[in-house]
Amino acid sequence: MFTPGTIVKVLISNIPNSGYDYRLPVSADIGTFVSVNVMNRPCVGVIWGIGDSNLPQSKIKDISVVHDAHLNIADLQWIKKMSDWTLIPLGLVLRLIINIPDAFLPPRMEQLYSFDFTCAGRMTQNRQAVADAFASNDNAPMTVGDIQNIAHVSPAVVRTMIKNGLLYPSGEQIKHHLTIPVYQDSGNVTLNTEQQSAADVIGNSVRTGGFSVHLLDGITGSGKTQVYFDSAWRAYRAGHSVLLMMPEIALTAQFMSRFESRFGAPPVVWHSNLTAARRREIWHGVLDGKIRMVVGTRSALFLPWQNLGLIVVDEEHDTSYKQEDMGNYHARDMAILRAKIAGFPIVLASATPAAETLENVASGKYEHLCLTSRYGGAQLPKISTIDLREHRPTPYIVDGEEQTGFLSPVLCDAISETLSARNQIMLFINRRGFAPIVQCKKCGWTATCPDCSVGMTYHQRIGKLLCHMCGRTAPLSKSCPDCGGDVSMRGVGLEKIQQEVNIRFPNARTALVSSDIITSRQALERLVGRMESGDIDIVIGTQILAKGHHFPNLTLVGVVDADMGLFGTDFRAAEHTFQQLFQVAGRAGRGAQPGHVMMQTYQPEHPVLTAICAGNRDEFMATDMAGRRAAQMPPYGQLIAVIIEGEKEHVLRRYCDELAAAAPLLQGGKIMGPITAQIYQIRNWYRMRFLVAGSATSALQPVVSHWLAKVKQPANIRVKIDVNPINFM
Ligand code: ADP
Ligand code: ZN
Ligand code: ZN
Repeated sequence: MFTPGTIVKVLISNIPNSGYDYRLPVSADIGTFVSVNVMNRPCVGVIWGIGDSNLPQSKIKDISVVHDAHLNIADLQWIKKMSDWTLIPLGLVLRLIINIPDAFLPPRMEQLYSFDFTCAGRMTQNRQAVADAFASNDNAPMTVGDIQNIAHVSPAVVRTMIKNGLLYPSGEQIKHHLTIPVYQDSGNVTLNTEQQSAADVIGNSVRTGGFSVHLLDGITGSGKTQVYFDSAWRAYRAGHSVLLMMPEIALTAQFMSRFESRFGAPPVVWHSNLTAARRREIWHGVLDGKIRMVVGTRSALFLPWQNLGLIVVDEEHDTSYKQEDMGNYHARDMAILRAKIAGFPIVLASATPAAETLENVASGKYEHLCLTSRYGGAQLPKISTIDLREHRPTPYIVDGEEQTGFLSPVLCDAISETLSARNQIMLFINRRGFAPIVQCKKCGWTATCPDCSVGMTYHQRIGKLLCHMCGRTAPLSKSCPDCGGDVSMRGVGLEKIQQEVNIRFPNARTALVSSDIITSRQALERLVGRMESGDIDIVIGTQILAKGHHFPNLTLVGVVDADMGLFGTDFRAAEHTFQQLFQVAGRAGRGAQPGHVMMQTYQPEHPVLTAICAGNRDEFMATDMAGRRAAQMPPYGQLIAVIIEGEKEHVLRRYCDELAAAAPLLQGGKIMGPITAQIYQIRNWYRMRFLVAGSATSALQPVVSHWLAKVKQPANIRVKIDVNPINFM
C-alpha cells in the first residue's frame, strides 16, 4: 500500500511507453485504476510501481482520481510478460484491457434509436445490415455511432432511416439492460466413458488449482464441447470465473442454445459487434466479479477478470486467435501465459491441434486427453480423392459460349446421387468472387489494384473488379487498356462454381457462403436455418461453414481444389491445408447417414491428401514436424518478423539500409533481409521485411528491441513486429 504523497509510476492506456510519474493524493495499492492528465487530456491508467523519473518534485503532477477498482499483481505481471514477449509497448497492452471508452466516467447521455421491424418493408441490403446489428444486441436501443459501426453503413444511410421512421428515438441511456445470469447444471447430459475420464482429469486440476495445460484432442463430433462445459461448471460452482474463448465464426446459435440448455441461461457473449453500452456493462460486470462466465472471441481474454479459475480455448489451432492489426499477439499463447502466471488450468480443444501444441504434448508440458469416437456412434465420413488428370472436368455452355468446367464427372455423379437421395451437398472452395485473374488474351496485361501489388478479382454479384487487399473496386472493361485486345477471365472462385452448378443441376437450390455475402452472424444464422429446413440442396462456400455446424442431412462434401493451399510458400502451408480440409471433411455425415468427402486434385499422392484420406493425422503431423525440426522452423526454432512500411519508397529503403548496417551478429541465429515483402504495396504504402531467426531457446526479443532502438525511425514509417508470424505477406 502506497501512502499519500508517494510518487508512483502510472502505466497509461494507449500511450506507447511504460508510463509517467505522478503524486498519489490518497493511499492506494499497486494495480489501482487511476485517472491522470497527459498534456491536459484525461487518461486512464494503473499504478504500476514506485516512481523513478528523477524529475524535481515541483514538476510532478497529482493523480486526478483514484478509482475503487484494481488489477491484481498477477495481471500486472502478465502485462509485463506479454509486452516482453510481443514487444508491444506496455501502455498498448494496457489499452487491450481498458478497451472501453471513458471506462470510469458515468455513461454518456446520447440519443438512442430503436429499429422498427414492423415497418421495415422491403429489406434492402442496408436495412438488413441495420436489422442484423440490432439483432446481435438483443434489439437493445443503439446510438447512431453503434449503428454505423456494427452495420457498416454510412451516416447518410442512418439519417435517411431516421427521417423515414425506420429508426425511432428511444431514450438517452441504457439502464441495466444486461441481466446477470446465474447458472446451474441442468444435469441433462451424461458423458460417455471416454468423455467422463477426460472431464475427470480436468476437473481434478480445477479442484486443486495451479497451472496446467490440457489438450482436449477429439475428432469432430466427439463431444469436446460437453466435456469442457463440465469443466466450466466445476470451476464456476467453486466460485471461480470462467472464460470460454472461440473464433468468431464458431459463436453459433447452435452453440448458444447448447450452452443455455446445459446451464439454464444464455451465455454472456463478448465479440466485436457489441454496442458501446453493452461492452461497458460486460466490462464492469466482470470487473465487479458479478459476471463470472463469458463466451467470447480473443479480445475477451483482456476483460478485467476477477478470480479467473479456468480458460478454455476452443479450436485452439485457429488462426483467428492471431491478432495482426493493433500489435501482433497470439491469444491462445497469451491465455496460456495468463494461466501460468495466475496459476490455474487451461484447456485447449481441437480436432486438429497446432504443431506447437502437439510439440508441447510430446515434450510432456501439456496433458493429452483424447476423444476417439463420434458421440452416439455417428461414423466418420469416407474420404477420397478424385484425380483430375484422369477425370477431367468437361466444358459447359452459358449463353452460347463454352466455359471451362471445374467439376469432374465423378464429382457430378456423386452430386446427382446425393440430390436423388434428397440429401445435401457442400462444395468447398476457398476463393471469393467469380474469377481471380482478369487478363488480356493478346498482350498478357492483367488487372491489378493501383494501390496494392495484387491482382483484382472479378465479382459477378456486384459486376465489378475488387481488390481483396484494400477493397477498392473498378469497372470491368471488355477490352485491354494497353492494346485493345479481348479480356478473358481465368481461374475459379465460388461464384463461377455456382454458375456451373446451376447449369449442370438446374433443379438444385444453391446458396453461396463467403465473408462478403455472409456479413453478420444473423446472416449466417439465416443460412444455417435454410440448411436445416432443407431449403438448400447445394451450399457453395469458403471455410465459414467449416466450423461448429451440425447438419444431419449433409452427406457429400466436395473440395473443388484441394491443391489450392498445398503450394503455399511458408512452412505452415501443409499444416494449415490439412487442418482446413480436415475441418471441412468433418461436416459430412454427422447424422445417422454416413458421409462422403471427395477432394479434386492433380496430385492425389501428396502427403497432405493421402494423410487426410487415411484419417492419419498423427502420422502426417509427425512427418511435417520432422521437416520443421530439420529446418529449425517453429516450434523447433523461433522467428520474429519485422515489417517496415513507408509512404515514400526512398525513405523506407534508406531506413532499412541503416537497420541492416546496424544489425547485430546473433549467436545461434541470424537477421535476414531486408527484402521486399511478398506484397510490396498495400493501400499505397511500400513494405519491406526482415526476418530474425534463432534457436528455440534463444531470447530473440531483447536483441530485436535493442537493434531497433539503435536507428532513429524517420517520420511516416511504421514498424510492425510479429513474434512467431503466421502470415508471411
Ligand atoms: P465436438 O465439439 O467434439 O465437435 P460436440 O460437442 O459438438 O462435438 O458434439 C457433437 C454432438 O454430439 C452434439 O450434437 C452434442 O450435443 C452431442 N453430444 C456429445 N456428447 C454428448 C453427451 N454426452 N450427451 C448428449 N449429447 C452429446
Ligand atoms: Zn492487351
Ligand atoms: Zn488494393
